Amino acid sequence: MPAHPVGVAAGAGTRILGSLLSRIVILDDDPIAAKVLRAMLAPHASRVDVLERTAELRTAVDEGCDLLILDLLMPEMDGTELLRSHAPSARAFPPIVLVSGLDDGILETAVHLARKLGFRVEGALRKPVALADVAPLIERTSRRRTGRHASYGTLALEPPERVLEALRGGELFLRYQPQVELDTGRIEGVEALVRWQHPRLGELTPAAFVATLEAHGGARDLAEFVVSRALADLHSLRALAPQLRVSVNVHPDVLRDERFADRVLDALRERSLPPAALCLEATETGIVGDEPETLHGLLKLRMAGVELAIDDFGTGHATLHELWRLPVSEIKLDRSFVAALHSSAKSRTLVGAMIGMGGGLGARVVAEGIETHDVRSALQALGCRLGQGYLFARPLDVATLRQVLMGTLPV
Ligand code: C2E
Ligand code: MG
Ligand code: MG
Repeated sequence: MPAHPVGVAAGAGTRILGSLLSRIVILDDDPIAAKVLRAMLAPHASRVDVLERTAELRTAVDEGCDLLILDLLMPEMDGTELLRSHAPSARAFPPIVLVSGLDDGILETAVHLARKLGFRVEGALRKPVALADVAPLIERTSRRRTGRHASYGTLALEPPERVLEALRGGELFLRYQPQVELDTGRIEGVEALVRWQHPRLGELTPAAFVATLEAHGGARDLAEFVVSRALADLHSLRALAPQLRVSVNVHPDVLRDERFADRVLDALRERSLPPAALCLEATETGIVGDEPETLHGLLKLRMAGVELAIDDFGTGHATLHELWRLPVSEIKLDRSFVAALHSSAKSRTLVGAMIGMGGGLGARVVAEGIETHDVRSALQALGCRLGQGYLFARPLDVATLRQVLMGTLPV
């Protein structure tokens, strides 16, 4: 068995910031094991519930939970049998972690089986469960849930209903950050970044509301709003920059949804834009781990020519094999590596390797978070062609972007 078959021990010891999940449910008939696990998970969720009977599972899922920890060996019904019986509603289930005292081979097979049945399996834990194995699992779940880094933080300022109302009521708008060619400063594309013009609090960045929206059924509506607005703007901006491309951040769950794919393709047709003028960005953490074949919507979009970027590259847990199987057109180097470039030889080695890997995969490489001339030069020396960051421009409103493209404002 490979060392980290399902990402169990990778990144052990990762620091978890605050309480990240709302509710974790443990299904384990062994009260002592359940109690120990509960104590380990308690710092990472507002609520951890233990179920002893399989019959209680469906109700717990319907009530809402972020993560389900399932013991594979229970006298009443074994874990895989239980999953098989719930397979028709697998999509309604939260991510699952399988736990077992059985050997690694069996655990790995169970993980494959659960994925084949349509469940999202976040990982596996071998009993006795070690504290160091729990933290990375929670962090992965949290990242996937928000589509972002846990460290990004969420400061839910408003309740979900209010955020959904803002989306429907037209209080959200887009800013655009240019992606420039490092050698020439020419703008090749722009990344759309959503903002909330809050009537009382002023302009809010995504950290204040996107996770809330996405956790409460607003992910697809948000993505459709952003795509539609971004394509409308792109249509008019192309009069100034005919080859301009727009990138849109999309929650990975939305990429699975074929209805989203259809809406995107319709929107491109309505604006007479080539599919390659749109690039969808998803985090590595969000789209790997599942079989690429289950990303139906994404495949449809890629086949039509829409591009896919892996955002915050290098911070997730993708294996080379998973990356190789994903139809990636762009890799965005996370700013945590980029910012350290001129001061850290280690960071230079890593960034150099990621640039080489991107090139080898035939993907465009874009460095994020370029704030200084030193970092820009270091990237150029490593052969990176494209980048974005405050050195070139902060996220701009569309009117300012238009002036920049007309050449009346410097980038
Ligand atoms: P991201 O996609 O990685 O976007 C880059 C973030 O880095 C943006 O923050 C941008 O303003 C910021 N940034 C750009 N250049 C620099 C720099 O030189 N230095 C520093 N320190 N920061 C820089 P923002 O706009 O707050 O967005 C945060 C995250 O929220 C984004 O990260 C993206 O993942 C998410 N997001 C933004 N718009 C959307 C959206 O429409 N839908 C979804 N689902 N997520 C979105
Ligand atoms: Mg992005
Ligand atoms: Mg990023």
